Amino acid sequence: MIEMKDVHYSYSKKDYALKGVSLDIEKGKWVSILGHNGSGKSTIAKLLVGLLEANKGTIVVDGLEMNETNLKEIRQKIGIVFQNPDNQFVGVTVKHDIAFGLENRMIDRKTMNELVLEYSKKVGLEGYLDREPHTLSGGEKQRVAIAGILALDLEYIIFDEATSMLDPQGVKEVTKLIYELQQDPNKTIITITHDLELARHSDKVIVMENGLVSACGTPKEIFEKTNVLSNSNLEVPFELDLYNRAKNNPKIKANSKLMEELCKLSS
Ligand code: ADP
Ligand code: MG
Repeated sequence: MIEMKDVHYSYSKKDYALKGVSLDIEKGKWVSILGHNGSGKSTIAKLLVGLLEANKGTIVVDGLEMNETNLKEIRQKIGIVFQNPDNQFVGVTVKHDIAFGLENRMIDRKTMNELVLEYSKKVGLEGYLDREPHTLSGGEKQRVAIAGILALDLEYIIFDEATSMLDPQGVKEVTKLIYELQQDPNKTIITITHDLELARHSDKVIVMENGLVSACGTPKEIFEKTNVLSNSNLEVPFELDLYNRAKNNPKIKANSKLMEELCKLSS
């Protein structure tokens, strides 16, 4: 479980990017973080993997408080897939890239090769092991990054707008993997996204606004509060919008059969 309490972070002396963020992310769940650009989503992600250090407040991961002593152990739990596929690659080939994290873990070569093969298969790239990064599409690069995280058996995986720079095919490939991964009860998935269609399938939604959590709840609870979403320039999925509007219209609301159908459509 991840617990953030009153977390403050500032990049400069003038302004705080996070102004007292408190949130919980339960183990095994899928949580989406929404909010418009600059609201502090990536800052949260970077604090969770220890790339940044909070000015104030506490971050606890599985009972371990984020500090210099625990950082190494926490890093063995949390992985992140960033927005830009071109910043993910660290190896000269797909094989080296997936193996990169394992190389620091004193694993023998044979086991390592088996793991690389296993996880390249899992992301549908088993035929790509000797390929160089520049020959891959954006979606393929993101899938290599995901394979590397899976090979390390990390419990928490953060996708920080991991599909936002991909073409439609790449979006499809990576989204499919996210759906698969969130079914694993041993993985906790955090998707930072503008895609409400994706977010509405998650267990919990956290909305960020100007460095603070402005709302938090199930997708249904959040999507009913249309003002929360519009404040963040987020568009409610069409079926939900339809349901919400119908609910506020007495004439339509009286038609229970129609409301039932609209409700089914929206969830
Ligand atoms: P989001 O991911 O929601 O778009 P960020 O967490 O990246 O938001 O940014 C939160 C705030 O911090 C923004 O005001 C942004 O301009 C600022 N910020 C982010 N990264 C830096 C940085 N490296 N240096 C200075 N300010 C930054
Ligand atoms: Mg961001």
